[in-house]
Amino acid sequence: MRRIDLNIIRVGVGDPADPIIQRALATTNDIFAQVNISLGQVKRFDVPAHHIAGMNVIRDKNEAFELTKKWTAPGRAIDVFVVSATADWMLGASPIGGTCQKYGCVFVSGVVMQLSEPSTGNVLAHEIGHYLGLDDDEYDKSNLMHYTVPNGKKLTQSQGRRMNTHCFLH
Ligand SMILES: [Zn+2]
Repeated sequence: MRRIDLNIIRVGVGDPADPIIQRALATTNDIFAQVNISLGQVKRFDVPAHHIAGMNVIRDKNEAFELTKKWTAPGRAIDVFVVSATADWMLGASPIGGTCQKYGCVFVSGVVMQLSEPSTGNVLAHEIGHYLGLDDDEYDKSNLMHYTVPNGKKLTQSQGRRMNTHCFLH
């Protein structure tokens, strides 16, 4: 079993979001067990209230980039920015095969997502799947990487092999 560490960076959602985030982490852990990956260290951070200034609402990839460019948290861990709202058409955003060099990155260098009950766990796992190198799956509705939620949360062995090559896994 290999591990992936996460930095949960709360952007204007604060403590009230935590029970939802906690459940989403448990769901993600269950989903990733299919491909022998488990969540390792998960740390929480808050963007200070006086620095948020609209960054808690992310309308497109450019705004997601601005957010991940402005903030990062230390460690060999995926930055997961939990914001108050994203555009209607996008519950989350992530690069496909995200960087392990977060400082000075010229692309989106983390996952950006909103809370979207009851599918928050599904969205978290899907976006981390992208960061670990997976594309969207347009055909199989049962696959985690199908672009609709809720999907069947399935991961194939070949997706697992892909994810297991990411530089943040340990
Ligand atoms: Zn996707």
